[in-house]
Amino acid sequence: MTDLLSMTKPELETLMEQLGEKRFAASQLFSWLHKQRVTSFDEMTNLSKALREKLKKNYNISTCTIAKKLVSVYDETVKYLFTLPDGEQIESVVMKYKYGYTICVSSQVGCKMGCTFCASGIAGFVRHLLPGEILAQVYTAARDLDVRISHIVMMGVGEPLDNFDNVLRFLQLVTNENGYDMSMRNISLSTCGIVPGIYRLMEEKLQLTLSVSLHAPNDTIRSRTMPVNRRYPMEELLKACRAYTKTTGRRISFEYALIAGVNDSDACASELAQRLHGMLCHVNLIPVNSVKERDYTRSDTARIKQFMHVLETRHINATVRRTLGSDINASCGQLRRGEGPGTEKSNE
Ligand code: SAH
Repeated sequence: MTDLLSMTKPELETLMEQLGEKRFAASQLFSWLHKQRVTSFDEMTNLSKALREKLKKNYNISTCTIAKKLVSVYDETVKYLFTLPDGEQIESVVMKYKYGYTICVSSQVGCKMGCTFCASGIAGFVRHLLPGEILAQVYTAARDLDVRISHIVMMGVGEPLDNFDNVLRFLQLVTNENGYDMSMRNISLSTCGIVPGIYRLMEEKLQLTLSVSLHAPNDTIRSRTMPVNRRYPMEELLKACRAYTKTTGRRISFEYALIAGVNDSDACASELAQRLHGMLCHVNLIPVNSVKERDYTRSDTARIKQFMHVLETRHINATVRRTLGSDINASCGQLRRGEGPGTEKSNE
């Protein structure tokens, strides 16, 4: 079976030709998939019955079935556990902001990267998500909540740049003006620092925001908490980031999860400021979220303030990310494949 939701319009046109249909059928099909966002062929009422039957034989439409839905009692954040067509499960989160709804989508089932503070890799890596499976997270949540989701952050389970081709295709599909028509400027993609992926993305010159998970001011600390740093050390990573901002003109957002006693000292802040000096960037400080298998402690509020102060005195723009969905394990680094624990307090 081939996933139709993952196919571009030109690919659908070729397919229609091969099936002896008019090219126009491809536009109708694309519209059913990405505008009406139906999940079955029988709903595509302006396609002939014969065509629908032909499609059913060899093609499917990626879906996300809601296996579990949790709503935070604090801030209305919604976490979905979705079941994919092959039975694998992933999580997505929808957050409500003043300016609209943002969805945090997963890009892989599990993760290979092994960051020591993150839950996403604990159960290992299973497979990449198809473009249609990333899209289906957006479409399913928007339908279920009956809202327009206006922003996407690729910050769920998985490393997007480790699934480059499918992620790029997802970005092209979700921003297609004949489909969901999301603005590329409303999309953020977060990477743990896969350097060749950053260069490849740079060549696409997309208007999205690139977030880079830095979490340390030097290789010693970073290699300890993020194994990817042994492959792509900080100097190479920051060089790629500088090239990225130069080519795209887009500011990079560096994510820095503050872990008590690990990376949150004034010396760490100074070193970080020194390394980022002169870059078109912003630092997003995240009080580290708890993951039950790990024993990291978040830095206290006073420490976070002081860390930010050191950055600011050195002219590095920084903000502290608000924690959302903490009662349903829906915060950064808490998403995982399959069912997450500790959700008893929440509304179902
Ligand atoms: N693989 C990508 C996408 C994940 S995005 C990446 O690494 O960037 C999720 C963000 O949350 C990343 O910045 C990640 O490093 C961060 N994160 C992971 N575990 C966390 C935790 N326990 N607390 C706070 N942030 C965490």
